[in-house]
Amino acid sequence: MKLHLGLLIATLTLFEGTCLAAVPAPVVRVVTPADAGIVAKRAALILARQITARCGAQVMTTGEADCVVELATEASIGAEGFKIADGPSGHVRIFGNDENGLLYGVGKFLRSSRFDRGGFTPGTWRGTSLPKCPMRGIYLATHFNNYYEAASPVEMECYIEDLALWGFNVLSVTYPHWQYSSYDDPAARKMAEHLRRIMRVAKGVGMRVTIGDALNSGFTSTPNEMRCTPVPDPLGRHGNFGVNLCPGKPVATELMVKNWERLLDEFADPGLDCVVYWPYDEGGCGCKDCWPWGAKGYLNLSRAVSAMVRRKCPHIKVIVSTWTFDTPPCGEWDAISRALAEDKSWADFIQADAHEDFPRFPLERGVPGNLPLLNFPEISMWGQGPWGGYGANPLPARLQRLWNQTERRLSGGTPYSEGIYEDINKAICSQFYWDAERPALETVREYAAFEFSPDVADQTVKVVEAFEKNHVRGEIGPCAQEAFDRVKSIESMLTPQARAAWRWRIVYLRALIDCELLKTKGKLEGRNLRDAFHELTTIYHAENAHSMPIRPPQIQDTEAK
Ligand SMILES: [Zn+2]
Repeated sequence: MKLHLGLLIATLTLFEGTCLAAVPAPVVRVVTPADAGIVAKRAALILARQITARCGAQVMTTGEADCVVELATEASIGAEGFKIADGPSGHVRIFGNDENGLLYGVGKFLRSSRFDRGGFTPGTWRGTSLPKCPMRGIYLATHFNNYYEAASPVEMECYIEDLALWGFNVLSVTYPHWQYSSYDDPAARKMAEHLRRIMRVAKGVGMRVTIGDALNSGFTSTPNEMRCTPVPDPLGRHGNFGVNLCPGKPVATELMVKNWERLLDEFADPGLDCVVYWPYDEGGCGCKDCWPWGAKGYLNLSRAVSAMVRRKCPHIKVIVSTWTFDTPPCGEWDAISRALAEDKSWADFIQADAHEDFPRFPLERGVPGNLPLLNFPEISMWGQGPWGGYGANPLPARLQRLWNQTERRLSGGTPYSEGIYEDINKAICSQFYWDAERPALETVREYAAFEFSPDVADQTVKVVEAFEKNHVRGEIGPCAQEAFDRVKSIESMLTPQARAAWRWRIVYLRALIDCELLKTKGKLEGRNLRDAFHELTTIYHAENAHSMPIRPPQIQDTEAK
């Protein structure tokens, strides 16, 4: 169906200031800049993939089309910013200040567009937008056979691309030394190849990549005499596992610096942009030479590893994490502050966070070394086990509260992610980094309009609020029934594509599961729950995952009745 010219003009008049066609376009043309680099070319492909997957409209690069979207760069907007404007002949123009900005502009454009059975209706959002935080990262934990380990390369590629559309520009991963006997352990080689593949995808969408581990982590083959003394952990917040080495022993320090050097070599292709040192979980040494860890051993070893990083790869930035420092107080924040006031040549960023509230020290006493500050909010595991085992786990109120605690002092961060069930939480964090003042629920609304339909955005916000209210499994209240009724009503308004997509299924299943648990008074029994958990397991590829905490609950046929 081609739109008649007269009808097009009438339509343009109706929608003042935009080129929105009232009739969905079955054919869309995407125009890529002639001098497009890797990221701009990728942005055009992602735009095409998103449109065809959501509404079946045809996307072409040449020929006649009902809707034309022009991509361009214009270096006057501000770093990584974008502008969406009307062009001549009803075209939509997306300008990026740079290719990253162009990709984020494509994301904004898609999220304000409509995808219906008849085709694609271009978004009406017009204006300019610039990110506030330069380091908008996401930390994907690849372990326990979780989604990030078990998903196919194509699924991971799509997922990382989807995250980039929200403005994420840093991908953070970890290298779990303690799981392997050496870098040449076949399992280690397999993991390294997996991580390199993920990093290449990230680079293709303009992300910087960072890798980290507990600073004093070692391989299982490490001789006992090099190993640490467990750290005092009276509050049980530091974690106590892994193979941790004692930097009070010179031979162990030598080995750890060598291991970090080999880590840089392992990922020289596709190339690292940052490394992250973690103090805890796993990590630390409680011997007399190293404790308090963040005040002594950790600082000494950080300086030694950084000296190697600076010499070998001067372009690589060093992120020094202070996660769970002073839990309980033992002088760690004070000591790192004094050390960096004297000499900050070994650090470029301070990362701070905790299991619960954001630490007060960097806010009240200043960030050590006056360095840029990053957070590390936990978006996956809070208050539910197995993680994601009950479907989507959006936490807008919690994330908003934690964000407010950071007092707009951050240069970014890397939310900690274990799986795809907290996709909404990722979107919320991405938008805090982009626009510190943007309320979490506004992002939920935009997410729902894009992933489900603009017609159900407000209803979805109400469902998400009910999910958060019922987050604690033992406290599911009557609003679970209302949420499930609402979800069924929303579903009747969705396109077949949106209804079948995993993002909708995990919302639907969460509503169903909460409603069933309300009926069974928390007992995991019955066919409905069994089938719902089974479907979640399939969506997460968690069939072979660590049973707790990654794989959703399993109900045997005998209990299913
Ligand atoms: Zn020690």
